[in-house]
Amino acid sequence: MFKAPRGTRDILPPEQGYWKWVTEKAAEMCRLYGYQRIDTPVFEDAGLFVHSVGEETDIVEKQMYTFEDRGGDKITLRPEGTAPVCRAYIEHGLHNLPQPVRLFYFGPIFRYERPQAGRFRQHQQFGCEAIGAADATLDAEIIDMAWNLYASLGLKNLTLQLNSIGCRTCRREYLQRLKDYYVSHEGSLCRDCRNRLSRNPLRLLDCKNPNCQDLMKGAPRITEYICADCHSHFTLLQDCLVTLQIPYEVNPYLVRGLDYYTRTVFEIQPVDVGGQSTIGGGGRYDNLIEMLDGKPTPAVGFATGLERIILNLQKQGIELPTVAGGRVYVAYLGEEARKEAVRLGARLRRAGIAATLAMDTRSLKAQLKQANALGFSHAVIIGEEELKANSVLLRDMANGSQVQLSAEEAIRRLKP
Ligand SMILES: [Zn+2]
Ligand SMILES: [Zn+2]
Repeated sequence: MFKAPRGTRDILPPEQGYWKWVTEKAAEMCRLYGYQRIDTPVFEDAGLFVHSVGEETDIVEKQMYTFEDRGGDKITLRPEGTAPVCRAYIEHGLHNLPQPVRLFYFGPIFRYERPQAGRFRQHQQFGCEAIGAADATLDAEIIDMAWNLYASLGLKNLTLQLNSIGCRTCRREYLQRLKDYYVSHEGSLCRDCRNRLSRNPLRLLDCKNPNCQDLMKGAPRITEYICADCHSHFTLLQDCLVTLQIPYEVNPYLVRGLDYYTRTVFEIQPVDVGGQSTIGGGGRYDNLIEMLDGKPTPAVGFATGLERIILNLQKQGIELPTVAGGRVYVAYLGEEARKEAVRLGARLRRAGIAATLAMDTRSLKAQLKQANALGFSHAVIIGEEELKANSVLLRDMANGSQVQLSAEEAIRRLKP
């Protein structure tokens, strides 16, 4: 028997309400902040991610779905959303538009990871990218938007972790200090970190190994090494967050697992859970467009996994808003009534009323039992008597009361 591949899942109808709600809230947030939708392909040239996310990162080293297609091209299923949007920005000359260009996307992300709660090998992501401005108020806008999305869904007890990881210039000195520190403790590092030490020391701050986490507490802090420009950028961002009344915590060891970040990085997490708890995050990536052979273009973005949001909504017991307008079940008895029922079903839908027809000619009792089990708000019944009188029975499924009236009158009463 076939099953969905490990780390993937089917989203069955009962859960779709959450998906619809979260997607609509996110799109509404984008409208309010002036972000426009972009869609990019699910797969890209593998090189795009190697050049942007970074060769020495977990994503590129261990998690990408990369394969050769039948034409011999090396293809990767998108493991993150920012690089494809930047590729599109360059390819379509979006730097010719008034800057910054504000974009958002929804789409699946693929990473070969060990599956666990809220983490899948295919997950659905919502992301925003503001490309073409260096101003810290833009970083604040992106964070504000993320924060308000969660708030508008009713999520509580979230924390915002914030850091600045500097620019190309000031990070160099920090990386040297970081390396010196870890070299002096090399014996206590895990094998992965010993490898990272020479190639990508910033990644050591990402390690989940308990020994490495302990060592991290004594490591030099990047916030003490950033240059004057990076410092004033970070200060302005924090001022904006205070103005926007968004509580935050500076975490000097927050780096995020991608190489392209500069200056601002942030993560939003529920307070009560540890480990894989981040529900969204992002940061500034001022060098990325240039790394992809575009003109130097500053940018900042944010992404959040929809599965993680929904998991947290369910954990926090947040119920879906009820949808207005009922659904009608068309029940009938006998061959002749069947034709009338088909006609009535069509008329109801034309009037904007959701209508479902009973199947086959089992007893009315059995049909109404089914209508009840399926949660219909009303049933319209056509029996022999109604057929003769050219009328229908309108039944309220909640209390069982029913009234005989014309089809026109029933439609009028059922209209949302
Ligand atoms: Zn700097
Ligand atoms: Zn380690």
